[in-house]
Amino acid sequence: MTNLPTPYAAARIAAFLDDHLSWSAYWDKHYGLWRVAEDDPDSDLYAESRDADVVVRYISAHSRDLQSVQRHLAGGCMMPGRRRCADEIPQDQAAVVGANVRALRQQHGWNQAMLGELMGWPSNSTVCAAEGRRDGRQRGFTTQEVKRLAAIFGVSLSLLTTRCANCGGHPPAGFACLTCGARPQT
Ligand SMILES: [Zn+2]
Repeated sequence: MTNLPTPYAAARIAAFLDDHLSWSAYWDKHYGLWRVAEDDPDSDLYAESRDADVVVRYISAHSRDLQSVQRHLAGGCMMPGRRRCADEIPQDQAAVVGANVRALRQQHGWNQAMLGELMGWPSNSTVCAAEGRRDGRQRGFTTQEVKRLAAIFGVSLSLLTTRCANCGGHPPAGFACLTCGARPQT
């Protein structure tokens, strides 16, 4: 399984992106390397490497991202731009993310404690709530958390937020998808 990043490399990238909000990273399973890019469409900053440390250094060296500095100076979230820190994705999207998190976690063979550790979530019940399995209620996600989840699982943001990671909306003939509830085509 050389084409998977170690969970610790994924967590390192994810934690780093938390402080560099204008950057995205994903693990390209096909080539077995990290691809990082600045989200700004006018930017051509891009790097790729098998080694998480190399792309982290690249982002550090090329980051024009002042947000982390501003946040730091302002003492965390206590600033007029407070909404940025609490910007949760819409509830219906959170339900898709929650179902996908459960499916992807199981595909990776991780238990809830493992995912909790990678996400920096305090307990298994947070993971349960994130997967929509706690009293049937779906926990919300911030955009930062969604970015981080996508990096940890090595999937694109659009897959994580809009499509079913288990079946892609098309379960195999004769099967219904337990993740998203899609029915087989007749
Ligand atoms: Zn599905």
